[in-house]
Amino acid sequence: SNAEKLELVAQSIRSFPDFPSKGILFWDICPILKDPRTLTAVTDLFEEHVRKNFPQVELIVGLDARGFLFGPLLSQRLGIGFALVRKKGKLPGPTVGVAYDLEYGKAEAEIQADAVAPGQKVLIIDDLLATGGTLFAACELMKEQKAEVLGCLVVIELKELKGAERLKPNSVYSLVQH
Ligand code: AMP
Repeated sequence: SNAEKLELVAQSIRSFPDFPSKGILFWDICPILKDPRTLTAVTDLFEEHVRKNFPQVELIVGLDARGFLFGPLLSQRLGIGFALVRKKGKLPGPTVGVAYDLEYGKAEAEIQADAVAPGQKVLIIDDLLATGGTLFAACELMKEQKAEVLGCLVVIELKELKGAERLKPNSVYSLVQH
């Protein structure tokens, strides 16, 4: 059942205090990938949500780097393509980028100029929603490319940081909340 799958996923996520720096509680999704049953549960849950709520989706867009672990599994299930949003300087050929603020300093996300077509209906996926800055930047990038963002998917949502508020009116679907 879905409740059993959600339980399996929730039990497979562990946290490490003070990583990568003091004061940060890091949520580690590696145990999900270590167990094929759990990785299948994640993909099943995302697939069911998307088929029910966003049957019109045409492309899954994954965020660097852990969005790349879950996105292609989902896009394959749905029979649609996958595009990568990467950190600046990683993608060859013509790219378009967007700058955004991190907790400390700035970052830039890029996508290949031909990765998404104008009017294309996309869902954006990452492992974790914290402040929402990263997913917000990806939404901006999609807007610049004239794609239509249907929503965002994450494995883990850190509720206290109110990332979902920042992403409004785009919706966020999360499997596990902390
Ligand atoms: P944010 O832009 O603040 O929503 O941060 C989300 C991005 O940073 C995601 O790509 C996450 O993988 C990563 N991230 C932020 N905070 C954490 C955390 N506490 N544990 C693991 N990953 C995190």
